[in-house]
Amino acid sequence: MIDSKTEFSFMMDSFEKACKAKGLRITHQRIEIFKALLKHTNHPTTDEVFSQVRKHLRTISLDTVYRTIATFEEYGLIKRVHHIDNASRFDVNLSEHHHLVCSRCNKIEDFYWPDFDSMKPPKSIAGWGKIGFKRVVIDGMCSSCNEKNK
Ligand SMILES: [Zn+2]
Ligand SMILES: [Zn+2]
Repeated sequence: MIDSKTEFSFMMDSFEKACKAKGLRITHQRIEIFKALLKHTNHPTTDEVFSQVRKHLRTISLDTVYRTIATFEEYGLIKRVHHIDNASRFDVNLSEHHHLVCSRCNKIEDFYWPDFDSMKPPKSIAGWGKIGFKRVVIDGMCSSCNEKNK
């Protein structure tokens, strides 16, 4: 999800600030779980976060990871990615963005599309109800899979 060291410490910093602002206690477990979410490059599932965190906290249970992720979501520290495969995946990038999904390696990448974001939904769905957040998923094959495919 993030690659540079500066960005990583910036994200950890804003995580701790957000916890304080929202009255969520900062525990070692929570820090390790958030770190795992940050370090994972593919919008991880709870199971993936669990196997990462277990490397540092051997005694942690899957249930604790589930509950902590649910708490993070409840407090708006992460977002659930609803629309990609069957497993719930989580996103630490809270800014308005969209996803590129490789159908081969299942890699999910963030991208930004301000032109789309500012576009009004079509008139034909005006009567549907209240529109929330518009998200785009672009399916295809990433360049490295495409390369291997040749
Ligand atoms: Zn791929
Ligand atoms: Zn994302």
